[in-house]
Amino acid sequence: MPKFIFVAGGVMSGIGKGVTTASIGKILTSKGYRVTAVKIDPYVNVDAGTMNPIEHGEVFVTGDGTECDQDVGNYERFIADNLTTDNYITTGRVYQAVINRERNLEYKGKCVEVVPHIPQEVINRIKKAARKTKADFVLIEIGGTVGEYQNSLFLEASRMMRLAAPNDVLFVLISYLPVPQIIGEMKSKPTQQAVRWLNMAGIQPDIIVARSLVPLDKPRKKKISVFCNVAKEDVISAPDIKSIYEIPLNFEKDRLGDRILRKFGMRTKRKGDLQDWKRLVRIIKTSKKPVKIGVVGKYFETGKFTLTDSYISVIEAIKHAAWFHKRKPEIHWLSSEDYEKNPKTLKELKEYDGIIVPGGFGGRGIEGKIKAIEYCRKNKIPFLGLCLGLQLSVIEFARHVCGIKKAHSAEFAESGDLVIDVMPEQKALIRDKKYGGTMRLGDYKCKLKPNTKSIKAYKTSNIVERHRHRYELNNEYREKLEKNGMVMAGINPEKDLVEIVELKKHPFFVAVQFHPEFKSRPTKPHPLFKEFIKAAVK
Ligand code: GLN
Repeated sequence: MPKFIFVAGGVMSGIGKGVTTASIGKILTSKGYRVTAVKIDPYVNVDAGTMNPIEHGEVFVTGDGTECDQDVGNYERFIADNLTTDNYITTGRVYQAVINRERNLEYKGKCVEVVPHIPQEVINRIKKAARKTKADFVLIEIGGTVGEYQNSLFLEASRMMRLAAPNDVLFVLISYLPVPQIIGEMKSKPTQQAVRWLNMAGIQPDIIVARSLVPLDKPRKKKISVFCNVAKEDVISAPDIKSIYEIPLNFEKDRLGDRILRKFGMRTKRKGDLQDWKRLVRIIKTSKKPVKIGVVGKYFETGKFTLTDSYISVIEAIKHAAWFHKRKPEIHWLSSEDYEKNPKTLKELKEYDGIIVPGGFGGRGIEGKIKAIEYCRKNKIPFLGLCLGLQLSVIEFARHVCGIKKAHSAEFAESGDLVIDVMPEQKALIRDKKYGGTMRLGDYKCKLKPNTKSIKAYKTSNIVERHRHRYELNNEYREKLEKNGMVMAGINPEKDLVEIVELKKHPFFVAVQFHPEFKSRPTKPHPLFKEFIKAAVK
């Protein structure tokens, strides 16, 4: 019988519920158990695929092609597992399934009600994830904050599960303790209120993870213990730290893993010493020499704030590779629109050791990205293009090297030389406005050509990578591009689609149609990022 650990958030959002959940997973894995994690997002969207990155942050893609929340990416990076559509639940998915079943008469004439049918569907999905993964522990992160209207049905599902199997379900509340500058003291009242909210939903947390600026002192732990009705030892201190990869180590200082196992009457299978991560954290802390990487994008400006959430997997992949080379990753955000307004500023690219043009949608900012790519090509700056980054590299090369002046992508232009075009089956989908979940998504095979930078990086000629795009390199232009020196370094064998392009006589110019960033792990960086950073360091 698997054990279920629900994780909910109190006081406010953005306090790292995802990485906390992932860290609990890491700890239990290190103790010899099989762990999986499920993210519940309370929004009505069926999946994250139709949302704008500024609205939602990164859309993470699993191997089976599920477009989901970035927290699923955190789970994969921490637990080092490959997750699937079963690891992701939304209000939209739950209601859609229940309504479809009702239409098929599967409720056998019954009145289908919000309670219990909706929470029951949630429970079924959680149990399915447990069954399919054969996990000893299923972590379930409930999105949003307790007390919200939106996630109450998910809390209800957790309450029902606990009622049915009290010994198999645990509840963790991740809360926040502010230290208001003017008072100078850590305040516990908001956390007490959050627990009250949970109590009203019929739930008593077993463990409280207390996020704050600084570690909790004894009086604070005692106060939370008394007022929130949990043992002192179950109040876990989670202060702000520089690297998220240190969180599992910090939790273990408060013996979180043992507390969880004890509550389930279980024991450590293996001495969970987290050696690999201790080594990683040591490198993170001691790598002083920087490697300076510029990311040319557009999804990071909202008003006066810079949001880098849209590129979280790219950021993590850069970091993993930099640490592999014992360098301190220094990542800078470069706005492609600035290069359009003022091309003189392109010169700043010279200050970077490497440049990345990541994925993206829509025409805003693309000409600036093309200018940046041209600059990297001509000035031999190590360059890595991801998805849209490949498409724009091809347009740039077609325009400026092959002399195809009107080269463009069907995503942004209706006529001209569409060197990037849409696949025939995609045309019908766009015409019928069938946008949700219909891109080329998830794992596809790719065969690498000999004597390329890619094969040198991967050290094998058959790879599988994750995709999320509608447009492709148009094979009608392949010969012309090749004749002018663009190397088609990776091809999808089933459909003969170009997956990787490279340039010779350049220290590192590689662009890929897929998203390698999704498969990078902290202690196992992605081969392409590894080679890119190596070139950047050089
Ligand atoms: N917009 C492009 C496409 O749909 C690229 C997508 C991406 O970068 N993920 O093909």
